[in-house]
Amino acid sequence: MRYLSTRGHPERLRFCDILLEGLAPDGGLYLPEQYPQVDAATLARWRGVWAEQGYAALAFEILSLYIDDIPPADLRALCHKTYTAEVFGSPAIAPLRRLDEGLWIAELSNGPTLAFKDMAMQLLGNLFEYELARRGTQLNILGATSGDTGSAAEYAMRGKRGVRVFMLSPHGRMSAFQQAQMFSLQDPNIHNLAIEGVFDDCQDIVKAVSADLEFKRRYQIGTVNSINWARLLAQVVYYFAGYFSLTRSDAQRISFAVPSGNFGNVCAGHVARMMGLPIEQLVVATNENDVLDEFFRTGCYRVRPSAQTFETSSPSMDISKASNFERFVFDLLGRDAARTQALFGAELARSGCFDLSADPAFAQIRSRYGFVSGRSSHADRLDTIRAAWQHSGQMLDPHTADAVRVARQHLQAGTPMVVLETALPVKFSATLVEALGREPERPAALEGIENLPKRVQVLPPEVERVKAYIAAECDC
Ligand SMILES: *Cc1c(COP(=O)(O)O)cnc(C)c1O
Repeated sequence: MRYLSTRGHPERLRFCDILLEGLAPDGGLYLPEQYPQVDAATLARWRGVWAEQGYAALAFEILSLYIDDIPPADLRALCHKTYTAEVFGSPAIAPLRRLDEGLWIAELSNGPTLAFKDMAMQLLGNLFEYELARRGTQLNILGATSGDTGSAAEYAMRGKRGVRVFMLSPHGRMSAFQQAQMFSLQDPNIHNLAIEGVFDDCQDIVKAVSADLEFKRRYQIGTVNSINWARLLAQVVYYFAGYFSLTRSDAQRISFAVPSGNFGNVCAGHVARMMGLPIEQLVVATNENDVLDEFFRTGCYRVRPSAQTFETSSPSMDISKASNFERFVFDLLGRDAARTQALFGAELARSGCFDLSADPAFAQIRSRYGFVSGRSSHADRLDTIRAAWQHSGQMLDPHTADAVRVARQHLQAGTPMVVLETALPVKFSATLVEALGREPERPAALEGIENLPKRVQVLPPEVERVKAYIAAECDC
């Protein structure tokens, strides 16, 4: 399997070459040259693998179609090391529970940081450690976080040989729980830098450091952001697992509803569908930041400036520009790299939007690709959380509630709908208290986490201070 760029760069790379990379050199995103096709016999075989050998074995089957530069025995070992009951809370790894008639929740948030990002990031940690050891090199991961991504990256990379993490967060602006999650890590390769500023200051510093190519090369700076293909690939697995959990035969179809921000999670569903998984609908759910819903309803993709990005009660979806969206548009346009380049390069830079409503491909977005969408507001979110609590005794996290709300608008008799649970309610307890007047339950392992000693360095919002900190910590 070789990988190409959505913007037409002629280079064709193998999996491990793009594993440690961000964007392609032309600014595009990496995708496989073609999606491996899963025929009925393979699907039936995978159903057996999943039922008899479990999630990790299924992950190996899927990943091995996309990764041919890691020996199969090693890849299998990496999958089994990653997807364990100890790390993900149950032998099923991603179990389903019934919410009500025709509606199911896929529990993807029982990993170490209580958000679905662990499903991919834990694999990434093991892949990085493996590949860096093979190359005899090191990587210093630099990132900015306002919550979920930073903690998932730290818990995935803690104690990994060859990797250091420098994670910038806005000083005093994360919830006490989020701060405790990150700052209580005592691993020497994890560095929390609390920047005296807001999230945008943190992100600006990361950009400035990465733009200094000399510094970047000398200190082997890398990232783990959501455009990483390996993260997306890891997420494809739970669509298959969800399908096998709910169906008996491969003649049945299933739909998924996905709380969406950067379009990584639902893009993995698109990949699963392109491989041949019988997915009826892929329901894209957004909050008040509805750039994706607008596109799927109207064909117009209009990114928002940060001043028009609302701070909502499902904050991990407060996104004005969906960084993985280019992957889907590339497929939608029949993999026309020149057009993709024109739309995401010049067109977005010039006008901040593009319009595909008159394109014949857009007319097939539902029939050929299964996509539908909807948005949810703060009031919808609270109503949905209350209704689930009253009718089923289940607490929903605010992001998952957005998807439940939108999923209900697209239910079809006879086709089960699976909502992906992207976080546990305890991570967003203020909204749960607002909706229900009570605190969500906390997993026993996280009781009292706020009282643990904290390991964090407070720094002013100055690029040079951050660079000096990294340089002092690196023995390279
Ligand atoms: C990251 C995240 C999302 C959005 O996922 P994308 O892959 O960016 O679409 C939704 N909910 C939660 C809780 C998240 O952490």
